[in-house]
Amino acid sequence: MGCARVVRPSLPALGACFKCGLPGVARVECTKQSLCRECFCRQFEERVRKANYRYKLLRRGDVVGVGVSGGKDSTAMLYVLSKLAAEIGGITLKPVFVDEGIRGYRSEAGLSAEALCRQLGLKLNSFSFKDAFGVSLDEAVAKRGVKGLGACSYCGVLRKRLLNSACRELGCNKLAIGHTADDFCQTFLMNFLRGDAAANGKFGVFVNAGVKGFVPRIKPLAFNLEADCEVYCRCHGLPFYGCKCPYSKEAFRGLAEDFLNEADAKYPGVKFNFLSCFLSPSGKRPRRASHASCPSCGESYSGSAPACKACEVLGALGVRRL
Ligand code: SF4
Ligand code: ZN
Repeated sequence: MGCARVVRPSLPALGACFKCGLPGVARVECTKQSLCRECFCRQFEERVRKANYRYKLLRRGDVVGVGVSGGKDSTAMLYVLSKLAAEIGGITLKPVFVDEGIRGYRSEAGLSAEALCRQLGLKLNSFSFKDAFGVSLDEAVAKRGVKGLGACSYCGVLRKRLLNSACRELGCNKLAIGHTADDFCQTFLMNFLRGDAAANGKFGVFVNAGVKGFVPRIKPLAFNLEADCEVYCRCHGLPFYGCKCPYSKEAFRGLAEDFLNEADAKYPGVKFNFLSCFLSPSGKRPRRASHASCPSCGESYSGSAPACKACEVLGALGVRRL
């Protein structure tokens, strides 16, 4: 079921800003100090600038596809990127929205994405699983049977594929994704819990640069916390959809999320400590050792299996291949 959390509400009042003395709107968890709207937003944007500077994410002349979901993270990302792009100059942003086909959820979130793009004067480019793959996520979940994957596994694989092909179609040379510091920590932890520490080597702030068939992916929110994205959106009155996906209960990620949130509440700063163990100062991650064309759909993939992941999951569902 959807809910009406497309919000532009006011912020709670906290103590005075420790930097300038104005009324606080957010708290720095490590120190329990308050920040006012202006100091908070400056700090939030400085973190994006740090990621941009350290990993050389945006360059003059870039055409950047920006994955927007209508949620708080990608909403904050698009807003900050539009500021950064104006400062750097010569950068075109193309918001890309993927409708996975989740009843009562994604189309509502899409309204927020549309409202945001209208506010920023950008065109929203929409794509859907149904059009691209012939199956919506809800249909995939209904077809998967008892031995099927979790909803998020279908969703993650197909969304990644669709964002990549959408960005190629739109002529983008980069794709920005709203992965926050929380997402990074969760992914690193999940890879350990799955016994796949090597997967952490493929994950970074700037990935797939120079890998044939893939639009390089950049993650400007790598140093921003998810909770801060929400405060940032509220500070700017940005519309976002605040409900959780109905399938999120199924996600293994939720386990990692709960653990990290609990740990960070008890030992403030552990998320950033954990993050620093994985992100190299230059942000460079080893390139994929190899790539090949999928024999079924022709898209690039690692070559380590008979077909790419997208064909694998669509084949298992018995729907048409890519
Ligand atoms: Fe997709 Fe899972 Fe996220 Fe829902 S929670 S949007 S199913 S990845
Ligand atoms: Zn202040």
